[in-house]
Amino acid sequence: MNTRRAEKGNVRVLVIGAGAAGLAAGRRLHQGGYDVLLLEARNRIGGRIWTNHDLAPHPVELGAEFIHGDKAITWSLVRAYGLHTLDKVPWEQISVYMDEQLLGPEAFFALPYAEEVFWLTYVDEVAEAWGNAGRSDGSITEILGADKMPEGMQTLLHNRFTADMTAEPEQLGIYGWLEWLRVHDGENEYRLVEGYSRLMEQLAAGLDVRLNKPIKRIRWDANGVTAYTRTGETFEAQCAVVTLPLAVLQAGDVTFDPVLPAGKQAAINGLGSGHVNKLILKFKKRFWPEISPALFTTLDSQIWWRPGLGRTNEAPLLTGYMGGQAAKRFMALGEEGAIREGIRHLEQMFGLKNLHHHLETGLLVAWSSDPYTKMSYSYVPVGGAGLRDQLVAPIERVLFFAGEATSRECASTVHGALESGFTAADELMG
Ligand SMILES: Cc1cc2nc3c(=O)[nH]c(=O)nc-3n(C[C@H](O)[C@H](O)[C@H](O)COP(=O)(O)OP(=O)(O)OC[C@H]3O[C@@H](n4cnc5c(N)ncnc54)[C@H](O)[C@@H]3O)c2cc1C
Repeated sequence: MNTRRAEKGNVRVLVIGAGAAGLAAGRRLHQGGYDVLLLEARNRIGGRIWTNHDLAPHPVELGAEFIHGDKAITWSLVRAYGLHTLDKVPWEQISVYMDEQLLGPEAFFALPYAEEVFWLTYVDEVAEAWGNAGRSDGSITEILGADKMPEGMQTLLHNRFTADMTAEPEQLGIYGWLEWLRVHDGENEYRLVEGYSRLMEQLAAGLDVRLNKPIKRIRWDANGVTAYTRTGETFEAQCAVVTLPLAVLQAGDVTFDPVLPAGKQAAINGLGSGHVNKLILKFKKRFWPEISPALFTTLDSQIWWRPGLGRTNEAPLLTGYMGGQAAKRFMALGEEGAIREGIRHLEQMFGLKNLHHHLETGLLVAWSSDPYTKMSYSYVPVGGAGLRDQLVAPIERVLFFAGEATSRECASTVHGALESGFTAADELMG
């Protein structure tokens, strides 16, 4: 790439994908005076951020929902764009369904192992001790200590874990977990009053984003790149920032010519693409206790929460959130079957009948079935530590990489994706 010789305004950069990472890269390059073109396959920006404004009088998030941590980089954008957040989510007031009983927070937290299972902080400590002892990598199952817990608590731990990590504990590597400690994210979780998509719209303002441009091939050499769309268009530039979801890269939906170096391809193949669904059910009226912000369950639906929590105009909606194999089982039921199953779980937990009479509408958002995502978010399998660094490394200062899967410390989050986009742009400009 000849950026040092050329005027910045003459340097064209293609950004492939207009999700959080692509928009962050595009914005930073645009601010740096580069000629940036963002090529997005869908008819909308935001990728795994997608706010619905039709289901309720308030925004409902079909993808990312929370800002994880009060120190996440997202806050600088929230402030810059004059957006607002709701109060922190009071997770400590959680209800739990286990052993065929619905427990309020006091009853649940009085149980042995409840604190550990809920906050999971002991996993960090045991993983660190494992690393400090220099032991070879193992799976998270080895450090969860589930076998000493009563059966109900074991299932709850499993569900809590897979919903969060979108893969089964035995798939996750201990050293991968250590890479990801998200130390600089801070505490607590927050929703955006205006909805997450508003943040993406602000980030995109003034950028040249071309929608409906599904890229199928990227030709590259030391002098530049050409991107070919499925619809027969071509775009040329001196370099590109590739922000495609890991599972899209794994599927080979976009080919590289020449093929990517072996180390890069090994990183793509070696990292894990997880699964998570959102099952969003809108009822005619609320039937759940006012105080519960969320409900953890030993059933396959794993976690339920109120997407309108903390809003004055909260609509009677519940979001079910299930990861790993449970997500696959729900997907296999199809949307109607998944809605029926979700309702069955709610009836069982709340001791109710014929809840379907109260259902207004339901939606299964299965990101793994979406052709431009094919996953939820990434994880590091056993033996996979270091692969994220391999994934993000630029090639010949022509191909740069960003996206949540490239973020060693904050993968699987919006702020990790944003940070990776800013970093790729800085590297390109540097
Ligand atoms: C259900 C769910 C809940 C989540 N909840 C949270 C949360 O609460 N908080 C949080 O911080 N994170 C959450 N995440 C994770 C977060 O959404 C992602 O980490 C982040 O949005 C990823 O951004 P990205 O730019 O890396 O990828 P993406 O947003 O996937 O962007 C990639 C873009 O590439 C485009 N693309 C794909 N193929 C092509 C092609 N061939 N040509 C051109 N463009 C293409 C896609 O359409 C997409 O716009 C959640 C994710 C899911 C799935």
